Amino acid sequence: MKRLVIGSKNPKKKREILEILGGLPFDLVDLTQCKPVAEVVEDKDSFEENAAKKASQVAKELSEWVLGEDSGLCVDSLGGAPGIFSARFAGIQGDDEANNAKLVAALAGLPGEKRRAHYVCAAAIANPQGEIVATARGECYGEILPERKGSGGFGYDPYFYLPEYHKTFGELPPAIKQAISHRARALEKLFQPISPAGTKGNHPLHALIKS
Ligand code: IMP
Repeated sequence: MKRLVIGSKNPKKKREILEILGGLPFDLVDLTQCKPVAEVVEDKDSFEENAAKKASQVAKELSEWVLGEDSGLCVDSLGGAPGIFSARFAGIQGDDEANNAKLVAALAGLPGEKRRAHYVCAAAIANPQGEIVATARGECYGEILPERKGSGGFGYDPYFYLPEYHKTFGELPPAIKQAISHRARALEKLFQPISPAGTKGNHPLHALIKS
């Protein structure tokens, strides 16, 4: 089976991607199973450009097929912030506690309709030459609670409330998150035409499956 490298160093994100893509005809590996690669500087202006940069840079370095992913939380009443800066909203990369505290403080006292937010995920696949061959975007809508509920997921999940489910992503079972999240939606679009049996010849990922 053809190898597809998940070009993310975030272990919780990697686990979610593996759960979502389980069953597809790839040998999914992560960066810990590859030779060391340089850190990708996320300095672009959109989720899409950052996802493409991650996929392309790592693919060129490894000469392998790579899935790049960039995601974040956009809050309407904060003008879309933290957006592409979600992982370092409070200043330190990956400090979920500090990021959540800053988010809660920024929305303090606001009523439900001013707490609307959505997660965004952009995903891109690069071939071993570093060329982007497929991209997709997924979104998931909810609102930010003033207090945390549940301990599942990661990042902003204990505060991200889904009205249809009356629960946060911190409370919902992982299988539900992996079915409805921004990440699930983006990856579903990206890989939708692929069945366990493979692809048709004109699909952009045909070369990945067949090579
Ligand atoms: P990235 O690794 O640069 O794409 O940053 C993603 C950041 O966005 C994470 O560190 C979280 O703060 C936030 N984020 C993205 N997706 C999720 C999710 O599914 N749950 C919670 N937080 C998320």
